[in-house]
Amino acid sequence: MTTISPRKILLIEDNLAEARLLQEFIKLTKSQKFSLCHVQRLGEGINKLDNEKYDIILLDLTLPDSEGLSSIPKLIEKDPSISIIVLTNTNDEELAIEAVREGAQDYLVKRHVNPDELVRSCRYAIERKQCLEKLRVVNQTLETQIEKKTTELLKSQEINKLKSEFVTMLSHDIRNPLNTILLAAGLLQKYDEELTNDGRINHLQLIRKAIKNVSNLLDEASLIGKSDSGKLSYKPHILDLEKLCAELVEQAQLFAQEKCLNLIFTSSEHCFEFLGDETILKHIISNLLNNAIKYSIPGGTVLFELIKQEKDIILKFQDQGIGITEKDQKQLFQPFHRGENVGIIPGTGLGLTIVKQCVQDHGGDITVNSQIGVGSTFTVTLPIIT
Ligand code: ADP
Repeated sequence: MTTISPRKILLIEDNLAEARLLQEFIKLTKSQKFSLCHVQRLGEGINKLDNEKYDIILLDLTLPDSEGLSSIPKLIEKDPSISIIVLTNTNDEELAIEAVREGAQDYLVKRHVNPDELVRSCRYAIERKQCLEKLRVVNQTLETQIEKKTTELLKSQEINKLKSEFVTMLSHDIRNPLNTILLAAGLLQKYDEELTNDGRINHLQLIRKAIKNVSNLLDEASLIGKSDSGKLSYKPHILDLEKLCAELVEQAQLFAQEKCLNLIFTSSEHCFEFLGDETILKHIISNLLNNAIKYSIPGGTVLFELIKQEKDIILKFQDQGIGITEKDQKQLFQPFHRGENVGIIPGTGLGLTIVKQCVQDHGGDITVNSQIGVGSTFTVTLPIIT
């Protein structure tokens, strides 16, 4: 046999005679078991809700510490799932409707109430509140789902917009070197006999340079495509990060020497193992190193620091180059964005977009700090995964 636990009522009523009468009515009920706790002030009632769960509150509307319907929201704030029946002195329909609007389930006129009506009202109030609760939960779930779907939709619209912008800019950027090739090849064909040897070499060099540009653009665009479709997926394994950095610095030394730069690499710790994706890491480091060198002024220093912290790895690339304006810093990671001060320094404006994607694939973050004419520092933070 299952025993049904009694419904718990919290009676908030300052008039002791009225309270005693309601207590008597509750005792007389046979169809449903109730247990009743009586307090005389709203403050005490709120304290009770802190420590115990009640099914229903019988609430007098004229209390020493609260007047009228203002008690209802205070009680609901304490326990949103509680059912409230207000106790009024007159059969005031307007007040009853107001009370329901404030969140009460029902009202009882004190002097007209009888045991049966009290029980009926309590049971209905509990049922009604439970239905409302279920509706509220369903509503909330629906709202969360709609919000999630709307965010997804907006994101995919944004991605689609970026993709079409990307394709437009890529075709525009490819057209320029193609035009150079077309023009130089045409000149070579048309004026072959008139051209000096140097002139011919010059045109051929232009063609080679333009082909290299197209090839760079296609390489970087394909990397973006791969990371976008998840093909540049993150495949971590344990590696010696200091060794990897040193190797990449070694490769970059030639480029640095060409520009008479002092390229320095330091590491806060030696031979430590790091769980990471080698391809992605190589891409991040070589791109940022190359940029630091490319945008440096001859004679300057490029400092690459590898710093191991408790939970993160910091890769810091500091140069004394041309710097980046504040306006450009905001758009630096957008595809094809190039700083207004790059002049004739070659580039595609895609490197940092890919670097950012790679850093994110690694669960990290990248920031830039720069001042025109002073230099730039790119800082990559990657979490240490154990
Ligand atoms: P790219 O170098 O091919 O133009 P990136 O995406 O690597 O493309 O860089 C975008 C822009 O950011 C560059 O065109 C340049 O204006 C700026 N930039 C990047 N790194 C540096 C740096 N170390 N110093 C100054 N400007 C930089």
